[in-house]
Amino acid sequence: MSTKFIFVTGGVLSGVGKGIIAASLGNILKNHGHSIFIQKFDPYLNVDAGTLNPAEHGECFVTADGKETDLDLGHYERFLDIELTKDSSVMSGVIYQTVIENERKGKYLGKTIQVIPHVTDEIKRRLYEAAKKSKARILITEIGGTVGDIEAEHFLEAARQVALEQGSKNAIFVQVAYLPFLESSQELKTKPVQNALQSLRSRGIQPAMVFCRSDKSIDEHSLSKIALFGGLKKEAVVGVPTLKTIYAVPELFKKLDLDKFVLKTLGLKAMKIRANGWQKLVKRIEGGSGKNIKIGLVGKYMTMSDTYISVVEALKAACYQQNCVANIIKIDSEYIQKNGVKILKDLDAICVPGGFGSRGIEGIISAINYARTNNIPFLGLCLGMQLSVIEYARNVLKIKDANSTEFNLKAKSPVINLMEEQTQVLMQDNYGATMRLGSFKCKLAKNTKALRIYGKSEIVERHRHRYEFNNQYRSNFAMDNNFVIAGENIELNLVELIELKNHPYFLACQYHPEFTSRPLRPHPLFLGLINACVKPVRNKTKNPKSTHLV
Ligand code: GLN
Repeated sequence: MSTKFIFVTGGVLSGVGKGIIAASLGNILKNHGHSIFIQKFDPYLNVDAGTLNPAEHGECFVTADGKETDLDLGHYERFLDIELTKDSSVMSGVIYQTVIENERKGKYLGKTIQVIPHVTDEIKRRLYEAAKKSKARILITEIGGTVGDIEAEHFLEAARQVALEQGSKNAIFVQVAYLPFLESSQELKTKPVQNALQSLRSRGIQPAMVFCRSDKSIDEHSLSKIALFGGLKKEAVVGVPTLKTIYAVPELFKKLDLDKFVLKTLGLKAMKIRANGWQKLVKRIEGGSGKNIKIGLVGKYMTMSDTYISVVEALKAACYQQNCVANIIKIDSEYIQKNGVKILKDLDAICVPGGFGSRGIEGIISAINYARTNNIPFLGLCLGMQLSVIEYARNVLKIKDANSTEFNLKAKSPVINLMEEQTQVLMQDNYGATMRLGSFKCKLAKNTKALRIYGKSEIVERHRHRYEFNNQYRSNFAMDNNFVIAGENIELNLVELIELKNHPYFLACQYHPEFTSRPLRPHPLFLGLINACVKPVRNKTKNPKSTHLV
């Protein structure tokens, strides 16, 4: 069965939700029983997203097979509930790197190397490879940036060639463009969208549809005008106003019968729609009732809203499932460092996400100490686990100078350090690809909260970190009967998950559970955290705050 191709491009400006629209299309098409695969072509000259600054670019998402990618892949996995691979993220850097390596190896037999055909051929090779390996019926490819960006031309040209090779029934383009609103005349202006469509046509591409994004409600007259000037059918011009939740976008598309329209355009049959629980989810979110849970997200890079997007979505998903409202408060750890932990006073739960480097670390440690000593439900993720270990070592085991060699190379008590092999690579100044990345198995220990929460003893979780729990300190922790190593990687002899016995909910993992949490299937560790906030039980400990159940 051959694959059909949908290319998603951007017009007017970027950042209007192209990724959400691509993912929503995938969501509604999957509902018809078609297998979908999705990928993103990113114009940056980076080789992968691993070295991009999270405060500038947002979260670095990690696939199960260990690729560091753009955050849009997180949306794709959440909306489609599928596991993507390294084929799903292609940056310009890796395309050029491959072409140049091929040239050095003499693979082009002395030819002059050019953007067309060498770069475009490498792009097409990766596109067709993704189609072949995934065996998808429909491959959706989002092209990052905006049509007209110098950096993205090779992707558009490669996509144009694919459409030519495959025929118009087998490969279509959809454009996502921004529809500006003029306050002075109180009207939506269609000209920039018209120009964006023209810009696409000047590259030999006529889209099958255009999605018009606006923060205002969109009138039919504007859409008709765009259809006329864009040479599009009226039903191919879709208004997408900003909705209360991004998860409502597939529902809007279904209401507009876009699934049927796209399938017809691609010559595919519409099948009986499977109920996927999405509608209920949207109703629940839009209803917005239930207990308000105040969750403090304490970390670095708090100025950028997308830095911890998967963590935020995982916390929200757990709250949706428990019929409560997630009130997520982002707290910069440097603020705590300067002003103390007073800001944490009224929180129901605390979550410490991942991060790199020494800035703000002591503030996070104070927040962890506060959660531990005040019985506030706590979840630590990656850096969050490492700092929980340091906090416990310093304040309970009295290893006063406990630290990670990430923050102090000469730490006297490096309870967190690098594995030997990684030290060798880092000494060669090679920061790309020096991390433990992707899925690893983990075995959960008997009689632990973790085992109860997961409901099985063998789990697989995604990683992205260099440093590890230092096994030389295992005996120090083993002497304490409150601190429990709840999960381990047996083959590599690495600590993966810790928990505290005498605490309502204190779990911290070396991996990133947020990457596998789904809107309809929240990850057990997040669900456990929210459960600890919403299900009060008899108070077992001295502290009055600890009316929580795990
Ligand atoms: N900086 C830590 C490490 O490299 C934690 C990384 C993370 O939180 N993703 O191990």
